[in-house]
Amino acid sequence: MDANEIESFLEDDPTGDFDNSGSGTREVFSSPPAKKQKTCSGNKPSTSPKPKTFQAIWLTDSKFSGWLKRVADDPYSAYCSACNKKMKAGKSELEKHAEGKVHKNKVTEIRGIHNLANMLQGSKASEAAAEAKKHADKVNTVEIQFASFFADNNVSFRTATGLLGVQKKVINDSKIVQDMTLGPDKCNAIVRNVIAKVEVEELSEDLRQTWFSVMVDESTDQGGDKALIIVVKFLSPRAPMKHKTRVTVLELARLNSTDCSAEALWDAYDKVLQKHNIPHDNCIGLGTDAAAVMVGRNNSFWSRLKARCPWAILIPCTCHSSAKVSSLACARLPPNVEKHLRMLSTYLGGSP
Ligand SMILES: [Zn+2]
Repeated sequence: MDANEIESFLEDDPTGDFDNSGSGTREVFSSPPAKKQKTCSGNKPSTSPKPKTFQAIWLTDSKFSGWLKRVADDPYSAYCSACNKKMKAGKSELEKHAEGKVHKNKVTEIRGIHNLANMLQGSKASEAAAEAKKHADKVNTVEIQFASFFADNNVSFRTATGLLGVQKKVINDSKIVQDMTLGPDKCNAIVRNVIAKVEVEELSEDLRQTWFSVMVDESTDQGGDKALIIVVKFLSPRAPMKHKTRVTVLELARLNSTDCSAEALWDAYDKVLQKHNIPHDNCIGLGTDAAAVMVGRNNSFWSRLKARCPWAILIPCTCHSSAKVSSLACARLPPNVEKHLRMLSTYLGGSP
């Protein structure tokens, strides 16, 4: 090779890192450098297709749902939990597997078992929920009975917390007692919102079916608010002993403090009966004091009641009437019996 040839080779080497040392020059000249192989993937020639990696999005694909799983520490594999089989990751491979007859049978079988398990689990859960509700109902019933006891016996609601604390200590083997919660506020709420509502509803239902007489009086409380107290007396159809007279308050109807006319009193009474859907026709008598606004001949509560229920009777001034009735009744008794009764009452009234 002459000097011209060397010069042209140097020009052909674009990298310019041609080894200009003696040995390098010799090697190049003795055997020309082989042409570099051009490959897409750098210097290494590709011999086999690159393995596909597992894609997380396949797990959300409905075609693979329920059986496709990832293989831990192996991103190039996938796992079918239905066939219990490991396979190469790749969407087409998985689709092919999904269409296989064996795989389809396995999936159908597993879905059947799964549905059965779900059904059993569901029925167990509903049984547990029913049991919990039954227990909660028992706890509620006991709480209502306690509140009713406090109200019936005029026991302060403030004692509820202390009493329940003692019960929880002493009756520690009862889940009902342990799960109870009863303080003064809850007692108050139970009496107002549960017991009173039921009582009023039952009372109204009775008054819709039976005759009743009514006692009314107006009253002013310490705050200066006026109310019409409506007491009813009737033979209770739901009493354990039939024909037992029941006397109870129907309602304390609020009155306007500035207007206590006969018209206002009647309106308040009328509204209460309408509210509870009790017919006026069932009223057979009125007992009240002897105030003109109540028993006056022309413009009174009684005149309005009489116009609405012509069959009703009036017993004015009930205390005085009762005294008269008992006096006349006693006149029919032998004198020593009445004397003995008087002495007895004086003794009891004056005895320390
Ligand atoms: Zn499978």
